[in-house]
Amino acid sequence: MACFCFLVDQTRKVRSFKPVAGSCSRCGGGASVADMRTSTRFCYVPFYWKSWRAIICTFCGAILKSYR
Ligand SMILES: [Zn+2]
Repeated sequence: MACFCFLVDQTRKVRSFKPVAGSCSRCGGGASVADMRTSTRFCYVPFYWKSWRAIICTFCGAILKSYR
């Protein structure tokens, strides 16, 4: 089972973002609307990915709200 953990990984990328009104509830930093892409890889080969949109904090990276 331990091997399985090394073979599968998930990466989250921010493709683009633009600032919106609002602030982070954790650090008070500025919020942005971001187009995110999550991809899951097995043995370094992507086999599943999805695009989604979320409001994130540009300072600490916290996800404040997500639209799935
Ligand atoms: Zn923050």
